[in-house]
Amino acid sequence: MPDRAVDRHSAEQLDRDDPIAQVRERFALPDKVIYLDGNSLGALPTAVPAAVADAVTRQWGTDLIRSWNDNGWWTLPGRVGDRIGAVVGAAPGQVMCGDSTSVQLFQALVALARLNPQRRTIVTDGSGFPTDQYIAESVARMLDLRLLRIRPDAVDTVLGEDTAIVALGAVDYRTGELWDAPGLTRQIHDAGALALWDLAHSAGVAPFDLDAIGADAAVGCSYKYLNGGPGAPAWIYLPHRHQADADLPLTGWHAHRTPFDLDDSFTPAEGIERARIGTPNLLSMLALDSALDVFDDLPMADVRAKSLAMTQLVIDYVDANLPDVEVVTPREPARRGGQVSLRHPAAYAIVQALIARGVIGDFRAPDLVRLGFAPLYLRFVDVYDALEGLRDVIATRAYDDPAFTRRNTVT
Ligand SMILES: *Cc1c(COP(=O)(O)O)cnc(C)c1O
Repeated sequence: MPDRAVDRHSAEQLDRDDPIAQVRERFALPDKVIYLDGNSLGALPTAVPAAVADAVTRQWGTDLIRSWNDNGWWTLPGRVGDRIGAVVGAAPGQVMCGDSTSVQLFQALVALARLNPQRRTIVTDGSGFPTDQYIAESVARMLDLRLLRIRPDAVDTVLGEDTAIVALGAVDYRTGELWDAPGLTRQIHDAGALALWDLAHSAGVAPFDLDAIGADAAVGCSYKYLNGGPGAPAWIYLPHRHQADADLPLTGWHAHRTPFDLDDSFTPAEGIERARIGTPNLLSMLALDSALDVFDDLPMADVRAKSLAMTQLVIDYVDANLPDVEVVTPREPARRGGQVSLRHPAAYAIVQALIARGVIGDFRAPDLVRLGFAPLYLRFVDVYDALEGLRDVIATRAYDDPAFTRRNTVT
């Protein structure tokens, strides 16, 4: 047995000692469900339904087009951007909210390539999230650049005089490994390249200080640990020092210096406003704006401490009780994001059997049970009860039931 006792009693004690335990009350969670998929779609903050109803009935239904001014629709993307910036270590005026992570990656990659035009190579993580690799492939093709794929911890082996950009996810979405963004950014800069970080899997759970590490650009989504809701708009970070020279490829009219002059040709706005594109998804953005209230005055250090305590509980429990399960996520706290990935040959059916018991996690091919631990709305006893469910599913081989081994198209 590891020295940390793993039992329900100690989980209850951890809940009593949890300084952010009350944040859970700000979420609407279904009964009899333990939700371990907040790394894919965050839970619903209780304030959001009323905010969306207000957006639809009053702002749209009554105020109509006046809402662009009277209800602040025009300035919303920048204001929401600043609120996200506060969570990811960006001072105001450097984050713009809108569109999807895929679109923002395209924007950021092309803009950085244009900032470093003498160099002809983009480096990205060869096991990174698919959209990140696909967009990088297209940008490389479009700008006639070379694309190299490498694990983030081996980036130093390929950095060279031709490296223009290194674009990496902050957390490996399969294993949950948190990369050393400050150290990697330093190496990238030492080689004369620019560093682009994708924080989709870490914003809102793992600490990140974009300004302090000197990231050249960053992107992220807001429907995972930021709880913005399905399809919530993404965001892009461009630090002040690059804004005047940033030549973003999607030159929509909202990014124009004087959008209402309706000029026939494009002049970019000053500052982060040039990272706007066209008319934003206002209903989604208003939902996100409300969802972000949860982060007001919430110390990210407490969030991180609780997240690490939860993932440690999982690792200790698995070590003590589940000899056939391999912990894939790094054991060193500094290298863990907000999830724990467990390897088992029957991973798919195990996930289905757990879902049937109200424990919602997900599966990543070929053999990973991926469990996300959102510290804002999970209790330590939830984590413990989910693990007891996992132990029971494995001990009784409940996963052998054909109902759980049959594959659905959407998992
Ligand atoms: C979730 C995620 C995305 C999502 O991209 P969308 O355009 O919102 O579908 C992109 N990159 C990473 C690393 C992610 O984790």
